[in-house]
Amino acid sequence: MPTLLVDVAVPVPLPGTFTYRWPADRDDPPPGSGDLVRVPFGRRRGLVGLVTDVRELPEDVTEVDGAPLRDVTDRLPGSYRLAPDRMRLAAWMAGYYALPLGEVVPLFHPPRPGTRRRRARAEHPAYPLQDPTSITLTEAQREVVARAEAQLASGGFGSILLHGVTGSGKTEVYLHVIARALEQGRSAIYLLPEIALTPQTLGRITERFGDSVAAIHSDLAAGERSRVHEAAARGEVRVVVGPRSALFAPVRDLGVIVVDEEHESSYKQDDKPRYHARDLALVRGREAEAVVLLGSATPDLASWHRAAEGRHQLGVLPDRLGGAMPAVELIDLRGQAAPDGFSEPLLEAVAETVAAGRQVILYHNRRGFARQLQCRDCGEIVMCPHCDIGLTVHLRPRRLLCHYCGFEREVLDACPACRSPAFLPGGGGTERTELVLQASIPEARVLRLDHDTTRRRGSHARILGAFAAGEADVLVGTQMVAKGHHFPGVALVGVLAADDGLSLPDYRATERAFQLLTQVAGRAGRTGAGRVLLQTWQPEHPIILAAVDQDYRGFAHLELAQRRLAGYPPFRRLLRLGLSAPRQATVERAASQLAGAVGRELADHCEVLGPAPAVFARLQNRHRQQVLLKGELSRAQKDWLARCCRALRDAHRGVDVVIDVDPVGLY
Ligand SMILES: [Zn+2]
Ligand SMILES: [Zn+2]
Repeated sequence: MPTLLVDVAVPVPLPGTFTYRWPADRDDPPPGSGDLVRVPFGRRRGLVGLVTDVRELPEDVTEVDGAPLRDVTDRLPGSYRLAPDRMRLAAWMAGYYALPLGEVVPLFHPPRPGTRRRRARAEHPAYPLQDPTSITLTEAQREVVARAEAQLASGGFGSILLHGVTGSGKTEVYLHVIARALEQGRSAIYLLPEIALTPQTLGRITERFGDSVAAIHSDLAAGERSRVHEAAARGEVRVVVGPRSALFAPVRDLGVIVVDEEHESSYKQDDKPRYHARDLALVRGREAEAVVLLGSATPDLASWHRAAEGRHQLGVLPDRLGGAMPAVELIDLRGQAAPDGFSEPLLEAVAETVAAGRQVILYHNRRGFARQLQCRDCGEIVMCPHCDIGLTVHLRPRRLLCHYCGFEREVLDACPACRSPAFLPGGGGTERTELVLQASIPEARVLRLDHDTTRRRGSHARILGAFAAGEADVLVGTQMVAKGHHFPGVALVGVLAADDGLSLPDYRATERAFQLLTQVAGRAGRTGAGRVLLQTWQPEHPIILAAVDQDYRGFAHLELAQRRLAGYPPFRRLLRLGLSAPRQATVERAASQLAGAVGRELADHCEVLGPAPAVFARLQNRHRQQVLLKGELSRAQKDWLARCCRALRDAHRGVDVVIDVDPVGLY
């Protein structure tokens, strides 16, 4: 065996691949393109990289371009090899998101590949389920399943957007299509936005497909992650369920990818590598010639627009199974006494529902007791010393907390600026909602689901399970309560501040608000009559009215017309350059230099907006600026942009620049 030169994409923020040596005298089989290998890099050892090319050397060499050639440490077993479809996915990702190939490699293997597991396999919560053979699909469900089956039978790539109202039986459609793929000897990937929040769905999938299912999520120990990865590569695990990272699982002969609740922004990874799992699911589906099913009651407008253009087939489930959609009513907060956030009609409706032995969900989009502590005399708000954000008031334990950086301090009794004692918490939160409820309706048993009550592992499932089992009358929570839960006992959903979120300075604010209102309303009346009460200051707002009518098509029509006018996605693409630095002058200088360079180089291809301060102009002691690019950029142009940002980082001390392709929020 001759000595080999091995090109490896290494997970470091540098472009290109790095060349290593595989000596002639090694006994183990040499790596090939697609293999994962461990290599040293600088002073670091054991970095897992991807082999992109292997060449034979006519004679043994020890250096390349004057640099000493280092040896590949070892080659990972064959189960870690990237098959051609996953290789192409990795390459596409690196190009599209302007990342070095090496930086996407960690997504394609478990955190510590090859680690042996020590614990027993995680148990999935079991939920009573019907016997699958007894399930009869509705005509609408059958139609979607038939379309997916036809696509599967054709053996080529196809995508279907499944628009089904809340409670219309989308999950059953997914399970049928997966079953068909398994019958053909193929595999499936089922993506969920947040696995901890969807124990019911996970339970149903596990129940249906038994031992061929494995879940991948961040709570799993490294050994278990490795076991699942290896079993999927061997074809023993054929249905992989999980959040966005499950998309990269090495299942054999992929037949179906399901993206459940495809509108959820948690499919977008918020730090490097920034990617959108729904968009990548379509790329992986295309590369693997699989069927991609995107499902939601409130599809992302980008998906809806693609379906309208004929790039997805559209499947529709217009009716709720075994019941009608709940009636949605508005409570106009103008001129109402609503101390502590509750109007009289809402409080009465909660009391009546609880007295009737049915359940209530109350949604508030903020956690804590009060949004901020503000002086009634001089207007002073207690701010986080590290962020341009007011501190949130929490009572149990009693403290002021920054939700962005975690800074905490004691609750003040008097205004630090004018010493006024009229220093009062303003704006509501889930903790206040819970306390007011306990004081007003003491007989109601209340559970709270938010970031503060779910810090411990397994607490999501415990709270959701207790509520599903009827151990509480009211579930108070943040948007966690809006996810795809099925609670048959819920007769009333109350939204405390329906217009909170509508005024955020972000082109997607209204879309997100509509989706949330529709999703949370959809928790009511799964069996029997359901009622939804939205408290609002803007009862004539078109988005609030669309939510009352639960009219997704009407909303989409309205909102897409606005987007077209303003030149926002899905009509034009966006790319956000986010800059930050400890000093304001530094970040401003860097941002204007970057905007200038981009303007000169790319003016013919995109519109350059900014530089401008980000919505949160300072977070965690870093001042923030952004530059927005509107328009389609080629791979070469994005590569130029990445080089430009690297040069900027080198030229300005302390400056960080991120390239966010297709940002989901402009903060
Ligand atoms: Zn004051
Ligand atoms: Zn802070």
